Amino acid sequence: MSQGLVTMSYIAASILFILSLGGLSNQETARCGNLFGMIGMAIAIFATVASDAVTSYTILIIALLIGGFIGTKAAFQVEMTQMPELVAIMHSLVGLAAVFVGYANFIDPTASLAGVEKTIHEVEIYVGILIGAVTFSGSVVAFGKLSGRISGSPVLLPARHWLNLGLLLASIWLCFWFLEGAETGGGTFALLLMTLIALAFGVHMVMAIGGADMPVVVSMLNSYSGWAAAATGFMLSNDLLIVTGALVGSSGAILSYIMCRAMNRHFLSVIAGGFGTGTGSTGPAATVEGEVQAIDAAETAELLKEARNIMIIPGYGMAVAQAQHTVNEITRLLRSKGKTVRFGIHPVAGRMPGHMNVLLAEAKVPYDIVYEMDEINDDFPEVDVSIVIGANDIVNPSALDDPNSPIAGMPVLECWKGKNTIVLKRSMASGYAGVDNPLFVHDNTRMLFGDANDSLQAVLKALNA
Ligand code: NDP
Repeated sequence: MSQGLVTMSYIAASILFILSLGGLSNQETARCGNLFGMIGMAIAIFATVASDAVTSYTILIIALLIGGFIGTKAAFQVEMTQMPELVAIMHSLVGLAAVFVGYANFIDPTASLAGVEKTIHEVEIYVGILIGAVTFSGSVVAFGKLSGRISGSPVLLPARHWLNLGLLLASIWLCFWFLEGAETGGGTFALLLMTLIALAFGVHMVMAIGGADMPVVVSMLNSYSGWAAAATGFMLSNDLLIVTGALVGSSGAILSYIMCRAMNRHFLSVIAGGFGTGTGSTGPAATVEGEVQAIDAAETAELLKEARNIMIIPGYGMAVAQAQHTVNEITRLLRSKGKTVRFGIHPVAGRMPGHMNVLLAEAKVPYDIVYEMDEINDDFPEVDVSIVIGANDIVNPSALDDPNSPIAGMPVLECWKGKNTIVLKRSMASGYAGVDNPLFVHDNTRMLFGDANDSLQAVLKALNA
């Protein structure tokens, strides 16, 4: 394929990626956005494979087959609840690729750059490996935390901020050492040392993040993976990779900002690590005392029959129970009886940004009754019944009442201001942040214990009876 055609294809793919991002910003257009992304990626792969840059089709086809096989197997096998872990581990692969491409570029015997161009290329290699290594190790730890293989509690080393600063300064110093060494054909040791430092920094940064702040880290690593891809694009002189990496990097950065706002955190503090640890607190978090009042499915159905204004608050447990289809059936039934049913979605509900919206869209819940937290949080005093389905941290009043709580300051859905709240969960266990929830012992809260889907099936049966 001629270079002109390759460039044209890259421009078309870039436009499709931008349209894809635009489409994904809204539920109604998300499917279309996905389609644009898929077509763009197909064009990008085809143009790259057909370009002059490819020197060995055998290696390329083997790599495509291995990658395609792993991707297809993962897509078929991974449960909806494992999606966040999958995303985290995919980010780690982008980082690892940037590291490998960096080293391959460094040892490339055919490289013939000289003077300023050579220095710029070496800086690209250095920065690419740095971002790639941080993304790789950080994402692996995030994968461990999201899948429960590593504890969600923050690991705080003494003087960790000084340690981070020391690692940063060492990386800058090593960059000069590397550039000096590269002039005379050396620099390998400096590059290796920086890679180890970057790997250690990635591990340290994510280990220091407390449970409830993980959403920010997930979106931040998403952004890093984009910058790692852009750095790879610079190293390979591939314009499409630069554009795509920049799109992912900047959209991930915007998402991190939105997540920080949702959690009421400062972005820089999260990057420095150690949030969600209660470091600003003056004592231990308050313990929860009081009587839990249980309710059964038939009583829940009675409450719903009497209610006019109903709010459904889904959380991670809805994903675990795969209860979204039953939720949709109950919603349709209640609406057919003339009741107002709305969904309140917390920005960090579930285990990845937009997790609940994806599940509700899959179950075909109408988009126009699904509201963001900010849109409906003031409406709770008018709500007759709130049904909290497998949610915990996002409805925890201690975020507002208890300055010593690890989630202090995080805005939450204030369902306790409504007339009745019914919480569906299996036990009194805490949520991802590991914080006790006083909502469960409020006067107007009833607990419907059991798997959320089983409980909702029973409620549906009672409503139909
Ligand atoms: P939580 O993790 O706070 O609570 C989920 C609750 O669901 C648990 O208390 C659990 O209780 C219950 N549950 C689990 N399985 C079932 C089931 N089969 N049936 C019924 N209930 C079930 O989830 P939230 O959505 O409220 O909050 C999200 C948390 O995850 C926040 O702390 C957020 O910071 C964090 N997070 C979010 C990310 C994101 O991007 N959205 C990424 C990483 C972390 P029990 O075991 O008793 O049933």
